[in-house]
Amino acid sequence: IAKRVAPGSHVFFSQEMADEVQERVRISNALQQALINDELELYFQPQQQVNDNQPLGVEALLRWHPPGKKPIPPGHFIPIAEETSLICDIGDWVLQQACSRIQRWQSEGHQPGRVSVNISARHFHSANFVSRLALLLQQYPACQHRLTLEVTEGVILDNLQESRTRMAQIKALGVNLSIDDFGTGYSSFAYLRELPVDELKLDRSFIQHIDKRPQDRAIIACLLDLARTLEMSVVAEGVETEPQLATLAELHCPAYQGYLRARPMPEAELLRWLVE
Ligand code: C2E
Ligand code: MG
Ligand code: MG
Ligand code: MG
Repeated sequence: IAKRVAPGSHVFFSQEMADEVQERVRISNALQQALINDELELYFQPQQQVNDNQPLGVEALLRWHPPGKKPIPPGHFIPIAEETSLICDIGDWVLQQACSRIQRWQSEGHQPGRVSVNISARHFHSANFVSRLALLLQQYPACQHRLTLEVTEGVILDNLQESRTRMAQIKALGVNLSIDDFGTGYSSFAYLRELPVDELKLDRSFIQHIDKRPQDRAIIACLLDLARTLEMSVVAEGVETEPQLATLAELHCPAYQGYLRARPMPEAELLRWLVE
């Protein structure tokens, strides 16, 4: 910072930056308490087949309800948690919650399909990640073949060699792997060749204008082709309108998720939604 400031000029942004750091520390501390005080909750957003809206599964999305305050969306606290090992504690909590739900739903006869959980880079690459996951699957055996881990391209490319080993171990546990926000991170898809990936999630930024921009439509057609060739399934993210969904149907995209049919919702609401 000092280097960028010309001698004699005022460092007019320093207070703002100090405030920003302080705010992040405050959020991080409050989040640690939130984990202890049970202020976190998983919401679930359905994923459906494009051709007939048949439910296929749900994505677990974290929500934070500080007492007496408005709920805080994950975009505000996940990036802060990701700066430290706090994200591993949160991630373990999320995984445990998701697995216990899968187990309970199974025993109560609910059929939500597969459950996808977002995994941050630091958590994915943390020591014993795979053995902790294996323990969870022992504790909640219904999760085998029902759990999917969503990672971003960044997670994988952080350390391709290690990711490949980890992903193989995860697959061996009967857990599926999905690449989240696919297409936004990197221009080369070469890494897909060497990884046991089951699913690509096409980022909302490509879907948003798919019915209006031929360029976006072409990109999606191309990614769908790629997925078919590599025998991976595809979920289009962030479908908000009928024309977007119709375009996905024309392109033979198999699955989607979005506000058009279902927002992320608490467990009780999901169970009602599934039988509607
Ligand atoms: P993501 O994994 O890409 O999740 C999709 C986000 O898009 C979710 O936002 C979802 O609510 C939102 N979304 C779904 N359909 C639509 C739509 O039609 N229109 C629009 N505008 N948005 C839609 P959310 O729940 O706020 O989560 C944001 C991000 O936070 C997630 O992006 C994910 O990266 C992260 N996140 C959420 N839960 C967790 C978690 O448990 N662990 C980790 N590590 N990250 C999480
Ligand atoms: Mg996701
Ligand atoms: Mg996503
Ligand atoms: Mg996205």
